Amino acid sequence: MGILSLFFGWVPFIGWLFSVVVIACGIIAMYQVKKEHALGEVYAIMAIVFGIISLFLSLIVFGGILLLGSVEPAPAPAPPDYDYGNFTIQYDWVQDDSHLFMEDYFRETQWFEKNVDKLNQDWILPQNITVVFTECGVANAFYNSKDLTITMCYELADDIWYSFYQMMPDADRNVLLSSWLGAMDFIFYHELGHAFVDVFDLPITGREEDVADQLSVFIVSESWDAGEDSALAGAQYFYTHGGSSAFWDEHSLSEQRVYNIICWLFGRSPGRFAHLVPEFVPQERGVQCPGEWKQIDNAMTTLLDAHRKQLPE
Ligand SMILES: [Zn+2]
Repeated sequence: MGILSLFFGWVPFIGWLFSVVVIACGIIAMYQVKKEHALGEVYAIMAIVFGIISLFLSLIVFGGILLLGSVEPAPAPAPPDYDYGNFTIQYDWVQDDSHLFMEDYFRETQWFEKNVDKLNQDWILPQNITVVFTECGVANAFYNSKDLTITMCYELADDIWYSFYQMMPDADRNVLLSSWLGAMDFIFYHELGHAFVDVFDLPITGREEDVADQLSVFIVSESWDAGEDSALAGAQYFYTHGGSSAFWDEHSLSEQRVYNIICWLFGRSPGRFAHLVPEFVPQERGVQCPGEWKQIDNAMTTLLDAHRKQLPE
């Protein structure tokens, strides 16, 4: 019985039963041998003592298992308490009729309101950022870190519209419209890239302009089903401006931006954009694109995940 208790001593219930039986046998044996053999008494006492120890040990082990089992899983991280900011849209008063027309179109379709709603759902902003639609006197878009504004100039919207119109004069109005909105989106997300680098204090190296293009492709593509098309429209717009940017400009040359964006899109979705390699992007660059995108995707995920309200599925 003692030997059995040695094997089963650690098993809850069975072990305890054996230990109790060993103790009982020990007590009985002690009474039995008391009159006859002094040595038998020693064995009997040992059986009782070891039986008690084994019972206690197995109770302690079982108690420990129960305690561990009942330990609650670590509580989920508390929702961030520093989501102080949101993106908001501001339409400035405009003079030009075509700009007024665009403002009406944006307001009616809620095109940018939908963009910022999605951003507000997805990102933890430490401060408010205002997206301003205004007349600037020049075709431009820019982020200002002093007053936390992204300015989208109507003159740029004009330029994008006419560039696409010149590139495909016979195109259906809806085709022009979706290219125009896509390029506007890409540029908006490029400025958002600058804003993210600033408010999230992202530790980037290399040219911020290139990082802003990478961020734009990354975020616009993951945010919307048609997001990749917006990035492509952005590339097409830069293509219409080939040869126009100076070597000293902080942006990469328009042509480089075009090839970069298309390369990253191809790297992201090789099946979807296979027709652009090698027809548009030469094979020498094309073979590198999946690896290039993987690096960008990895870097963006590392830099941005801490600023998301929820990790993307
Ligand atoms: Zn920029």
